[in-house]
Amino acid sequence: MNMHLFKKILRKTISVFCICGRCPSYPKKKEPKTYCEFGKSEFDVKKRGCVCPECFVWKINRFKDYYYCEKGKDPRSKI
Ligand code: SF4
Ligand code: SF4
Repeated sequence: MNMHLFKKILRKTISVFCICGRCPSYPKKKEPKTYCEFGKSEFDVKKRGCVCPECFVWKINRFKDYYYCEKGKDPRSKI
């Protein structure tokens, strides 16, 4: 399997746990979310709070940051 396909499948799998969809700052476009692991959104972000600390992915990775949709992936991301 090539790396691009592998990452696509991985992102889809992690996005099941991602709670960006219920965040007031979510750009609400058709994106696979999981910005903490795969980088920032292509769209403008209006900061209205970040719910990442409530997310399973954030907790198990011991992430510390917020607003990944705007800033890009967490420095602790291993992907
Ligand atoms: S930590 Fe934030 S960006 Fe990462 S999966 Fe959870 S809600 Fe999505
Ligand atoms: S990364 Fe944080 S601020 Fe951005 S949409 Fe996800 S939960 Fe909201």
